[in-house]
Amino acid sequence: MSAKSVVVALVIVAAIAAIVVSESALVGQSKTALARVPFIDVDLCTGCELCVETVPAVFQMDGDIAGVFDPEGADEQEIQEAMDNCPVEAISWQEQ
Ligand code: SF4
Repeated sequence: MSAKSVVVALVIVAAIAAIVVSESALVGQSKTALARVPFIDVDLCTGCELCVETVPAVFQMDGDIAGVFDPEGADEQEIQEAMDNCPVEAISWQEQ
């Protein structure tokens, strides 16, 4: 094996190691950190839009009722405020 072949082999090994390390780092930063997400009982929702007005990044209207648009769109405190203000208690936490 020539010196040039050895260098090429070392470069390839280093590149593979870098990819493995970066993939490991990404796994540690996964967005699956939420232990619970908001859930809307569509049978209870009256479509008053209060939750949408309170946290529009999380709740959006889906026709005549509200839906969860992005469960990670706000922190838990803001989502809890929308839950507490729902006049028919249609929003609850769902464990992941
Ligand atoms: S606040 Fe409650 S009733 Fe009003 S739209 Fe949101 S989930 Fe439905």
